[in-house]
Amino acid sequence: MRKPMVAGNWKMNGSLALVNDMGRALAGVDCSAVDVLVCPPFPYIGPLRRAVPDESGVALGGQDVSRYDSGAYTGEVAGAMLAEMGCRHVIVGHSERRAMHAETDEVVVDKVQAALRAGLTPIVCVGETLEARDAGETEQVVGRQLDAVLDLGGFVVEKLVLAYEPVWAIGTGRTASPEQAQAVHAFIRQRTADALGDELAQRFPILYGGSVKPGNARELFGCADVDGGLIGGASLDPDGFLEIISAARP
Ligand code: PEP
Repeated sequence: MRKPMVAGNWKMNGSLALVNDMGRALAGVDCSAVDVLVCPPFPYIGPLRRAVPDESGVALGGQDVSRYDSGAYTGEVAGAMLAEMGCRHVIVGHSERRAMHAETDEVVVDKVQAALRAGLTPIVCVGETLEARDAGETEQVVGRQLDAVLDLGGFVVEKLVLAYEPVWAIGTGRTASPEQAQAVHAFIRQRTADALGDELAQRFPILYGGSVKPGNARELFGCADVDGGLIGGASLDPDGFLEIISAARP
């Protein structure tokens, strides 16, 4: 059975005040039935680790990682640095990075490998734009992004988490219906099974992301192939984030 995960992506939001509020909110959270992960901006990782100690069970992650391990790459952050600051995960290939930082499938794959070299679990984001959905190309786009990762083989894929995030639902308030989410998640699981076998595909965690809120989380997480969520805007409200975590409890 796959353990659900709820991951918060603060994007370029937050402050030390939010770090402290979130620390208080998450101090006693029960992570036995749901994996809880928070991905704040890089400068807040250390303070958040102090506010929510590792023993709480709450994991921390980065929102991006360099494809390189070290060197003259001003502004980049290496996987080993994230790991040293207490991160266990890192988001890779978020649609905002694909769109605004020209991250191709090739870059995403390099970042997946860089994260794994540092012992981090990559959370790989895939998802189609509204134009692609309207053109009936959802499976083509998601399939291409997924194949780039599946091509790395089973020994790599078994270490990953996938997040299906339709671009048209991110930060727009427009959520995929449970049926729309389930259809793409089932497609991802089937394609993974076709490439790497059913046993691995059944273990593969696939999160949904795109305007998940306390009010719609339970319905989305109730879908057979949805294993929790990657939460943007709603992860900035400690009480709402706790409600979303509760909604993921089986
Ligand atoms: C995200 O940025 O990964 C995301 C899902 O954002 P939101 O929940 O705000 O749509």
